[in-house]
Amino acid sequence: MRIDGRENNQIRPVKITNNYLMSPQGSVLIEMGNTKVICTATVENSTARHLVGTGQGWVTAEYGMLPGSTGTRKKRDKGGKQDGRSVEIQRLIGRALRSVVDMEKLGERTIWIDCDVIQADGGTRTASITGAFVAMVEAMKWMKAQGMISELPVTAMVSAISVGINGDERILDLCYAEDSHAKVDMNVVMTDKGEFIEVQGTGEECPFTREDLNELLALAEKGCRDLHAVQKEITGEI
Ligand code: UDP
Repeated sequence: MRIDGRENNQIRPVKITNNYLMSPQGSVLIEMGNTKVICTATVENSTARHLVGTGQGWVTAEYGMLPGSTGTRKKRDKGGKQDGRSVEIQRLIGRALRSVVDMEKLGERTIWIDCDVIQADGGTRTASITGAFVAMVEAMKWMKAQGMISELPVTAMVSAISVGINGDERILDLCYAEDSHAKVDMNVVMTDKGEFIEVQGTGEECPFTREDLNELLALAEKGCRDLHAVQKEITGEI
């Protein structure tokens, strides 16, 4: 039995609240159990510097944790100084989203994704990706309504989930208490077509076998599928 009574293949209760903020073109609050992240998508009418003149747009992401989001106060990022973990996570979020965006169709614009963790209980990077995808699509719908684009420039839906091994159990969607004891820890990003975008797996306390990997990927696939269903309640079919 897991700490919170879940089955090994069960994700935490997920809730995505759309239009959470007034100003950004896309904004959601995603809650996965006690993990809560505000994800916004803001449209800027110019592309990244290296793409000017190419007709292509760009999607980029920033990630941060608020001081009160963790058990011990997390120092606020100041003066543009970010810890390595935040940089690693925001690059993951940006890559994950870019993999399903048609940059030609987006045109010379940038979609800025901001993921701010207001409460961290494990899986903040995966919740960020799942929420940010919805915020990004909502921003694209806004662009379409403005006549900036004629169709949504996305090729698939994206969600992400963690999996790991605790004791002898392979489990889906680890909360912090589980994550902190996990022997193996993995983050998986997938499309709704069942394709992989990124797989990051680490044998933190011991190596893992091919059979473990296969089983963990099967669990992650189930989790991502569950999340795509929740995302579609807001985005509709893409
Ligand atoms: N955590 C924390 N302070 C930190 C970093 C992490 O309290 O500076 C906690 C937090 O609950 C987070 C969990 O550890 O969700 C797991 O962190 P990890 O780096 O594995 O990333 P995540 O699982 O959140 O994507």
